[in-house]
Amino acid sequence: MPARLTADAGVDALTHAVEAYVSRRANPFSDVLSPCAIRTIGRHLRRVHGDGGDLVVREVTVLAAPQVGIAFSKSSVALVHGMSPPVGAHFHVAHGQATAPAPSVLPPTATATPWPPGRTRGGAPSPVPGS
Ligand SMILES: [Zn+2]
Repeated sequence: MPARLTADAGVDALTHAVEAYVSRRANPFSDVLSPCAIRTIGRHLRRVHGDGGDLVVREVTVLAAPQVGIAFSKSSVALVHGMSPPVGAHFHVAHGQATAPAPSVLPPTATATPWPPGRTRGGAPSPVPGS
């Protein structure tokens, strides 16, 4: 797989995972999968991009893809993926490149939608004090 395609697919998967994590529709199920995928992709994407022949690292990284798919299908994507089709079309860039601005877009999106009172990440009840 060409390095450029590896980078585009990896950045897209990482963006999906981050969006699933910050989504207001996140839930305990997606909250297990998305951080796991973020860690896996974050740890290995540069290495697999630099050495596409490292099949062990590539396999580990590929295993994050279904985690990401399940996580965002059970929560949602956010503004980055909403913006990516027109960005890709206007700048003639691949989908993964169009989602690359995620760090500059996600924090305001994430903080603009506070969790409902008494709820924490993924809609789980707040931890019981002293437990
Ligand atoms: Zn995508």
